[in-house]
Amino acid sequence: MRTPQRDGVIEQDGGVVADVDSGPVTASPLGRALVLMGDMWSLRIVLAIFSGKRRFQDLREHLAISDPVLSRRLRGLVEDGICVTREYQGRPSRHEYLLADAGLDLWRVMIAMWIWDRTWAGSQHRDAGSRLRHTTCGALTSPVFGCAHCGAIGLSARDVQGSVDDRLLVDVTSRRSRRSPAMSSPIDAAGVLGDRWSTLILSDAFMGSRRFGDFQSHLEVSPVTLTDRLNLFVDTQMMARESVNDGARRQEYRLTPKGLDFFCVTTMINDWAATWMAPDGQSGLRLVHSSCGAVLEPRFTCNTCNQELERTELEIVTHPDRRDDAAR
Ligand SMILES: [Zn+2]
Ligand SMILES: [Zn+2]
Repeated sequence: MRTPQRDGVIEQDGGVVADVDSGPVTASPLGRALVLMGDMWSLRIVLAIFSGKRRFQDLREHLAISDPVLSRRLRGLVEDGICVTREYQGRPSRHEYLLADAGLDLWRVMIAMWIWDRTWAGSQHRDAGSRLRHTTCGALTSPVFGCAHCGAIGLSARDVQGSVDDRLLVDVTSRRSRRSPAMSSPIDAAGVLGDRWSTLILSDAFMGSRRFGDFQSHLEVSPVTLTDRLNLFVDTQMMARESVNDGARRQEYRLTPKGLDFFCVTTMINDWAATWMAPDGQSGLRLVHSSCGAVLEPRFTCNTCNQELERTELEIVTHPDRRDDAAR
């Protein structure tokens, strides 16, 4: 068992318990990205800035968040290079918050989460009625996930081989085992990300692990924590528990279509981490597209015009025209 160089700090804001690791870098880039994405408030703040809220008061009202929590998260986002500040008024000096390039590039993660929520989080979810428009072709689009290297589309976890390097495990040993209250069912993508053991167990499942012992040996996770998370995945229909008779009676945990679909979110976070948090471009989780042999460069294309989707060419439509619905 490796020893973490630094323990995470646990803080509680508005019912959301999160690990915050803002100290020296001990985790892998992917681990750090998961800390960021797993913090519900940071995620909501980034989304709010994406939607045009830039000033402290606007963010506070929009998010119904307390001043100390908001200022702490904004400070963290600036330190992580996700946001930058810009003075919009002198005497007294006032600043607004803009997304830095690293923050803007999170759009791919946001879109992946949005897609998963629309598909799986149920009709009550806030994104259930919204659609995406590709402004280049004008159509309501359903982004298609693919490999930028060879152009293959519709990739799933089964098309990719992954390997974890040692640095990811350093992060594993420092994580808390208690699950966030946000992780109780029913869950959306942010709820899954809010619990980093869950994201790691899912990542291991994407790489083909199915048995309790496999997860345990790959992740150095305690039996209690592993049992808890596997039960949760079964309860939320992301995994199915199946009995296998191979001489000894065993159980396997197989990803359902809902669980497999989360691969897109994990991959986009991994790619973002490799791009923005790793000086050497290594996130800690290496994903290779099996059929072309290249390190997976994930991308989204438009299902109508087949062009690669760019951040500036997408808009979220909350009440799409009925005639456009035929485009789905
Ligand atoms: Zn490929
Ligand atoms: Zn298009």
